[in-house]
Amino acid sequence: MSHQGCDIGLIGLGTMGRNFVLNMADHGFSVGVYNRTTEKTKEFMETEAGSRPIKAGYDLQEFVGLLKPPRNLIILVAAGDPVDALIRELLPWLAPGDLIIDGGNSHFTDTNRRFKFLAGKNLNFMGMGISGGQAGARYGPSLMPGGSREVYDRVAPILEAAAAQVKGEPCVTYLGPRSAGHYIKMVHNGIEYGLMELIAETYDLLKRGLGLTPAELALIYDRWNREDLNSFLLEITAKIFTRKDDRTGKFLVDMILDKAKQKGTGRWTSWDAMDLQVGTPTLDAAVVMRDMSGYKEERRSAARFLTGPTPAFPGDRQRCIGQVKNALYAGMIATYAQGMALLQKASITYDYGLDLEAVARIWRGGCIIRAALLEDIRTAYKTRPDLPNLLMDPHLGQEFMSRQADLREVVKAAATLGLPAPGLMVTLSYFDAYRSTVLSANLIQAQRDFFGAHTYERLDAPGAFHTEWEE
Ligand code: NDP
Repeated sequence: MSHQGCDIGLIGLGTMGRNFVLNMADHGFSVGVYNRTTEKTKEFMETEAGSRPIKAGYDLQEFVGLLKPPRNLIILVAAGDPVDALIRELLPWLAPGDLIIDGGNSHFTDTNRRFKFLAGKNLNFMGMGISGGQAGARYGPSLMPGGSREVYDRVAPILEAAAAQVKGEPCVTYLGPRSAGHYIKMVHNGIEYGLMELIAETYDLLKRGLGLTPAELALIYDRWNREDLNSFLLEITAKIFTRKDDRTGKFLVDMILDKAKQKGTGRWTSWDAMDLQVGTPTLDAAVVMRDMSGYKEERRSAARFLTGPTPAFPGDRQRCIGQVKNALYAGMIATYAQGMALLQKASITYDYGLDLEAVARIWRGGCIIRAALLEDIRTAYKTRPDLPNLLMDPHLGQEFMSRQADLREVVKAAATLGLPAPGLMVTLSYFDAYRSTVLSANLIQAQRDFFGAHTYERLDAPGAFHTEWEE
C-alpha cells in the first residue's frame, strides 16, 4: 500500500460493498473501508481482507484520514435517508475537490439534489449505478457512472479494472452529467422487471398450459439459453428448475410462495416513463403483476368464485414450445426497445446527452440484463445514434416481425387457456400500436370535447375545433 494513503475508500460493508472492496483490491488498488457497525468492519478485516491492500477506519475521521488526497470514496449503503445522513456526517472531514460516489440504487432526483448541494461546498459527487448482484460486485459488475467527465477520468482506472470485461472492453464508461448514471441504472432495473415478467409468463404457459415439469423446463430453458435467447436471466432460470428442495426433496421452485417482492426501482421507471410520456407497457405490466402477486389471500378467495377455462393446451405441444420461445424473443426485443426509447427521451428532457451505443455496450457484461441481444442493440445505435425505437432498426425490426405470428399464437393460447400473460399481451399491442398509422384516439378526442369542451384537431384543416355534441 502506498504510504501516501489509499487509492479509494468505501463505506458500507454490506453484500455489495464488501465484494466490491475485494474486487478493487484484487486489481491492485489500495482501499480504505468503513462500516457503521464496527463489528462488521472487524469481521471483514479478520475473515475476508486477508493480505490484500485494505485498511479499516473505525470512525469517519479515521477512515477519511486513510485516503490519498484528493480523496475518492464510494458509498454503498441503503438508498434514501442513510445516504443523506452519511454525507452530512462526512462533511466535516472532507476537503474541497474530494469526491463522493454513491453506488447505491438512489433515485435520480436525489442524486441531482446531492450533486448540487455538494457542488456548493466545492465537493465532487457522482451517482453510479452498479449491477450484477454480489457476484458482479466481486468479480466484475456493470458500472453506470454519471457526474463530471473530469472527475470520472480521475477514478476511471479503478472502475475500468473492477468492471466486467467483454471482448476486451470494460463494462463501464462515462455516461453523462448529474444523475445520468442513476437514471440509466433505474431504466436497467425497469428492463430487468420486464424481462423477468416475460420469462415468468412463458414458464406459466409451459407449466400450467402444457403440464411440463421443472426437469423438462430446465432442459428447454437451457437449450434456449444456448441459442438466440442467450442471457443471464435465461441461464439462471434453467438452473433454478434443476434445484431440489433440501426439506422435501421436491423441486424448490414448486415450494416457493408466488408473491414477488420489489424494492421500487421498476415502479420508479414506470413513473418516470409516464411523466415523460413514453410508453413502456411491458415494464409497467411487470410492476402490476408483482403487485397482484402480493394479493395471495384475495386471489385464493377469488379463485373459488371467479371461474375461467381449464388451462390444458389441446394442440401440438412441440410446436407450441417453439412458438413460446419466439414470443419470448420478440418480447425481449420490445422490452429493450421501450427502455431505450425512455432513455432517448430522458436524454433530451434532462439534457443528459446519452450515447445509447455506450449504454448497450456496458450492459453486455456484469449486469442482470446482459444478453446476446445487446450486441445487436449496440450495433443498431452505432449505425444510427438517434434511432427513435429499436423496432425501427432494420435487423431488430425484422427479428421481431419474423416472430410476430408466433407471438400472436401464444397470446391467443394464453387468452384461451385463461392464463395471465399481460407482458406478452401488451408487447403485442405495443407493436401493433407503434406500427399503426391510425389509432382510435380520434374517438377519445371527441369524448374529451363532448364532456369538457377540450377541442380537437381535424384531419382536413389546421386549428382547434369544438362541437356542441348534444343538440
Ligand atoms: P446491505 O443491506 O447488504 O448493506 C447495507 C449497508 O448499508 C450496510 O453496510 C449498513 O451498515 C449500511 N447502512 C444502512 N443504513 C446506514 C446508515 N444510516 N448509515 C450508514 N450506513 C448505513 O445492502 P446491499 O449491499 O445489498 O446494497 C447497498 C446498495 O447497493 C443499496 O442501495 C442497494 O439498492 C444497491 N444494490 C444492491 C444490489 C444487490 O444485489 N444487493 C445490486 C445493486 C445495487 P450496517 O452494517 O451498520 O447496518
